[in-house]
Amino acid sequence: MATEWDIDDQIKYLAVLPIKRFYPTIVAKQTGLPLQVVFEYLLELASREKPKLQLKWEIRCPNYYCARTLYVLDSFPTNLDETIYCKYCGKEFNLSIDIIFPAFIITPEYKNYIKENTKKKRYPSRFIKKHSSRFKSRSFIFKCIRISYRKIY
Ligand SMILES: [Zn+2]
Repeated sequence: MATEWDIDDQIKYLAVLPIKRFYPTIVAKQTGLPLQVVFEYLLELASREKPKLQLKWEIRCPNYYCARTLYVLDSFPTNLDETIYCKYCGKEFNLSIDIIFPAFIITPEYKNYIKENTKKKRYPSRFIKKHSSRFKSRSFIFKCIRISYRKIY
């Protein structure tokens, strides 16, 4: 049974990837938790005193063949029905809630924290070399590496 801890795990994993933003849907898919549960927990992480995340709102072109992200806003737009022009496909359309999507960015502070923490915990290759005589086989070494990775993520 997945819990909110699995969401924490996912964010830790996403923090080391070279991505700008991520969507609640991907976390829901990876954890198997309902989207509503995921979204509420992500909002909680974004509203903490030391936030792991920051909420953004993306405005995407409604043209199915385009669907590019046109704007990334810090707050939900208040002036709905405004006319928007897509510079990629040349279409004009009205701003509506159908084309506004929540996205999250991982705060640089949390990214740094994960980066530093991962460095400290990962077994350096010289550790494995030094103790290699103890390891009976290659598969045993790989098993150790896998275990240490599991502890990190
Ligand atoms: Zn477009």
